[in-house]
Amino acid sequence: MSTLVRKGSLFASPGRDGLYPILSVRQLSAYYGELRALFDISFDVNPGEVLSIIGANGAGKSTLLRSIVGMMNRGKAAHISGSIEFEGRRLDRLTTEKIVDAGATMVPEGRMLFTRMTVAENLLVGAHLPKARASAHDKLAEMFDFFPRLAERRNQVVSQMSGGEQQMVAIARALMSSPSLVLFDELSLGLAPIIVDDIYEKVAEINKSGVTCVVIEQDMRRALAVSSHVLVMAEGRVVLEGAPGKLSEADITDAYFGSHRAGAVA
Ligand code: ATP
Repeated sequence: MSTLVRKGSLFASPGRDGLYPILSVRQLSAYYGELRALFDISFDVNPGEVLSIIGANGAGKSTLLRSIVGMMNRGKAAHISGSIEFEGRRLDRLTTEKIVDAGATMVPEGRMLFTRMTVAENLLVGAHLPKARASAHDKLAEMFDFFPRLAERRNQVVSQMSGGEQQMVAIARALMSSPSLVLFDELSLGLAPIIVDDIYEKVAEINKSGVTCVVIEQDMRRALAVSSHVLVMAEGRVVLEGAPGKLSEADITDAYFGSHRAGAVA
């Protein structure tokens, strides 16, 4: 899996924990037409970490990830302000294709697979951009090594697979472009706990191979267990952040339900 890793950060000055962030979000606001969904969000993601984002429904977690991967640059229908830098490069004016090409990709909520296509066809979609296309077949072999279950089912139509298998397809598709940052939106949604354990084992392996991971997770305990840094969002704002060891469950619960003072940092 070491080929998943790209170059290091180009940031000029260190941030949290004295490290140079791979992703730096500053004063990010996001709008769906007249509706403001994010309010001046700022945070860093350090290289090699797993950062979890938790928060109630409608807190703005998906909008945040969608902003990072260029899906909120839709003119009047959806737009953002503020800055997003990834490996020293501004992302906030780029298209999703350019962002994926730069090395940041997302596993979207609901997976968004081509369900009438086979596993292999779906994975190849993840390598359709020029940089990734050249090594698409090697990458496909790498993904089938990493997910043996998908190798067995490479010619199966995705609609005939279980939710857990489809989630593996979505993860493998994201890895096909050799990202250095992967954003996972609600990996556990609708899956049995035992399947969720398997999926998180894979996330841990992906992270160990050098890929930085941002995970949206509804389950607070799981978020604390898998990550080195946690953000809690409420009503479009980051209301609490810190290392899991420094945050109490009571603090997180307060923040989660919106009763915490905005801007607190542990
Ligand atoms: P969930 O866990 O339910 O996905 P979330 O924390 O990811 O919640 P978002 O989906 O980012 O929250 O939603 C943030 C706000 O933006 C909510 O008020 C939501 O109604 C609104 N919103 C989300 N998507 C759209 C859209 N396509 N058009 C208009 N408003 C939207």
